[in-house]
Amino acid sequence: MATGKINVSVENIFPLIKKFLYSDHEIFLRELISNATDATIKMKHLSTIGETDVEYGNPTIEVKIDEENKTLHIIDQGIGMSREEVEKYINEVAFSGAEEFLEKYKDSAKDTGIIGHFGLGFYSSFMVANKVEILTKSYKDEPAAHWICEGTTDFTIEEGEKKDRGTEIILHINEEDKQFLKEERIRELLVKYNKFMQIPIKFGTKEETLPLPEDAPEDAKPETITVDNIINNPNPAWTKQPTELEDKDYKNFYRELYPMQFEDPLFHIHLNVDYPFNLTGILYFPKMGQDMNIQKDKIQLYQNQVYVTDNVEGIVPEFLTMLRGVIDSPDIPLNVSRSYLQADGAVKKISSYITRKVADKLKSLFNNNREDFEKKWNDIKIVIEYGMLSEDKFYEKADKFALYPTVDKKYYIFDELLEKIKDTQTDKDGNTVILYASNEDTQHSFVEAAKDKGYEVLLLDSPIISHLIQKLESSKENISFVRVDSDHVDNLIKKEDDKISKLSEEELEKLKTDFEKVVPKEKYSVQLEAMDSTAAPLIITQPEFMRRMKEMQQTGGGG
Ligand code: ADP
Ligand code: MG
Repeated sequence: MATGKINVSVENIFPLIKKFLYSDHEIFLRELISNATDATIKMKHLSTIGETDVEYGNPTIEVKIDEENKTLHIIDQGIGMSREEVEKYINEVAFSGAEEFLEKYKDSAKDTGIIGHFGLGFYSSFMVANKVEILTKSYKDEPAAHWICEGTTDFTIEEGEKKDRGTEIILHINEEDKQFLKEERIRELLVKYNKFMQIPIKFGTKEETLPLPEDAPEDAKPETITVDNIINNPNPAWTKQPTELEDKDYKNFYRELYPMQFEDPLFHIHLNVDYPFNLTGILYFPKMGQDMNIQKDKIQLYQNQVYVTDNVEGIVPEFLTMLRGVIDSPDIPLNVSRSYLQADGAVKKISSYITRKVADKLKSLFNNNREDFEKKWNDIKIVIEYGMLSEDKFYEKADKFALYPTVDKKYYIFDELLEKIKDTQTDKDGNTVILYASNEDTQHSFVEAAKDKGYEVLLLDSPIISHLIQKLESSKENISFVRVDSDHVDNLIKKEDDKISKLSEEELEKLKTDFEKVVPKEKYSVQLEAMDSTAAPLIITQPEFMRRMKEMQQTGGGG
């Protein structure tokens, strides 16, 4: 028997990286700006801890298009690299200088927000460029370096001319990727991926009109000046402490996230945890009404202020994907597959943490201002009812604040309702009977009749309530939900009033059979009802089980 070693050479890996590492070519820019940001944060850190006396200053990252030469430039004022460092960090694929830095400055650097991790990001530039140059000068007093690579494993490196500290990456953009030489396209990418990154990013210039001084003459023209166009907000609200923020700051940030949303959110939840995983963020409850189809995937996922995705499936429980906002966690890797995410332990913990925080917030809104909570109920009930159906942990908590409105616009939580009706609304088996009606029923005489008896009638008109009812019935003892016009109700009502009609037995029997001839038997049953009202001496009811069958067919699911 012989043993051997599989030889993995860079030659084999390189084309694979170019082709398959990232499904989305556009992310090259995110990767290069992340590297520029890391280099700048490192500079700041070294100067903060006194490891160098180089002045940190107010560095920016600049992105520049040179259409004529078909190049895209990313220029930073970070720590730069010496020639040896280029050879070490760039030429060694899958060696991460970011990891190395975090390892070296463990405790002091762990919260700096350094992004890099796998040592692969830089190579994503070859997805859009046939030639890449690095011009770089280290913050240490060493000659600049100039590295050139044309997308093969060959490269050249020589002394460079760069005078200022930092790095300039030059991408010679492929013919087929020339979209990345268009200002509009680059702006779009910067806004999508880099809008909240830590270091200011400059892209072109813009005109700014200066305000006139108060004593300016009437015919004075305001002065316009040309300033750097900074595309990002380096200090987004979610990176701050909740104590630093007021309600209006949260609303402003909502606008910043969703410039096209004109309606204010109902409330926000600030997430902030650093053990056993790191996570910050702000979630918003938008006004939802009856709309189950509210566009999902509105929550944006960030890693150290770098946009990753707005598909948070698997990270946020399904019922909360109807919310909006941001989640930022360095513990969620930038580039991983969905199936990996779903199996990942840290991600599971994140999901249950978020569920708990949302439940706690709702509970405190309910406790602190019930009147306001009741007002908002119609706009938040879908999320809550959906959550109660799909997550048992959430159900347990929500049971203490989920509201059940009546046709008279009273709002009960479940225990309050039971307390109210437990002596008056019982059926012959001793179950507590909860009567409910849908919106269209409210004018109906059944509702009036039940009210006249002093019964509470719930007005349950959300699109998923029939499923929730089944869940409630199976998890609570001795209760049954009965629609106010279903055939169960007469048991309840007859108990107190057995005088059916002024008609004789025979007349009643005749009336009943006459009606049965015209009413489809398989769907309805004809009954003579003990109603006081003169308007309806006879009713046609639908058995509860048939109604539910029908509703389930309509909403397309089981309980
Ligand atoms: P990662 O960022 O995951 O470490 P990359 O492939 O993106 O991996 O980059 C490899 C390394 O090259 C970085 O860790 C860093 O040491 C170095 N590097 C890349 N870009 C720059 C830059 N703009 N300034 C200084 N160093 C850089
Ligand atoms: Mg990187």
